[in-house]
Amino acid sequence: EAKSSGRNGYQIYEQTRPERSVNKLTLLEEMRSGIENGDFFLEYQPQYNLVSGRIIGAEALVRWQHPSLGRLMPGEFIGLAEESGLIVPLGRWVMKEACRQNKAWQDAGLTPITIGVNVSARQFSDVGLVADVTAALEESGMRATYLELELTESLLIQNAEQAVELMDDFRRIGLKLAIDDFGIGYSSLVALKSFPLTRLKIDRSFIRDLDYDENDRSIARAIVSLGRELGLCVVAEGVETAKQQAFLASCRCEVVQGFHFGRPMSANKFGKLLGMTLTPLDAHFG
Ligand code: C2E
Ligand code: MG
Ligand code: MG
Ligand code: MG
Repeated sequence: EAKSSGRNGYQIYEQTRPERSVNKLTLLEEMRSGIENGDFFLEYQPQYNLVSGRIIGAEALVRWQHPSLGRLMPGEFIGLAEESGLIVPLGRWVMKEACRQNKAWQDAGLTPITIGVNVSARQFSDVGLVADVTAALEESGMRATYLELELTESLLIQNAEQAVELMDDFRRIGLKLAIDDFGIGYSSLVALKSFPLTRLKIDRSFIRDLDYDENDRSIARAIVSLGRELGLCVVAEGVETAKQQAFLASCRCEVVQGFHFGRPMSANKFGKLLGMTLTPLDAHFG
């Protein structure tokens, strides 16, 4: 996560580059112009059905090709985008681009998949969200059923009253609604009880230690069956090993996403992956 340092300082760092402090106001100005200039792009991470081994979806993840700092990851700029409100125009672009790209894959004759888009608190409380989503669907011509909004538990609880209404509206339009990073908040069960969700994404902190932590195995197994009992599609995030995959299969977890199956990749690469009838990744499924 990027952290602020002092009033106008902002720490930017990546593993490949020494940490450096940049001026926060400059970065904001650059973000504003970057949105207009097309400096942002999306990567797509595949989601596989654990039984069929087929790609059934992708999560769209935003990156910033900064003119001088190079490629920045969301952890380095989403916080600032939220704080400043720039997440609204940025999120609007993400939504449009994700729908446009997914429709382009469909038009190319590839198997239709669901595209997941992350929505943060500031976007969710913006009055223009429904209009933005509707515009993205209309402009792309993609059916609503292929769009999934990923919402976090804290976002839902913060906005509990409007959230249910807004989510009902989205469900009427035909969208899918996922609870992202499930299990790390303070009101996970309240969220499941209160909101019209279609999917539950188990936070990767519960997946990470599955290979050697018996408690995590119990928790993951319980979350999968809880989700199933509620009629939700359960997705495990952050799956990195074959052992984790095998365990999740034994729990009858429906969908997996993680570095073991594929890292977030360019649209071009993802399109090729989707186009292969027998992907190299089929090797992962017996
Ligand atoms: P998230 O929605 O939970 O997305 C999953 C994050 O986990 C991604 O990081 C992804 O690259 C990473 N990941 C996937 N599989 C694995 C794995 O096997 N191991 C590990 N260690 N990590 C894995 P990324 O792309 O850096 O995004 C971080 C967060 O930034 C996202 O978390 C999401 O909250 C936010 N974000 C990304 N794109 C957008 C966007 O377009 N809009 C908004 N509002 N937030 C976004
Ligand atoms: Mg997500
Ligand atoms: Mg997540
Ligand atoms: Mg997250």
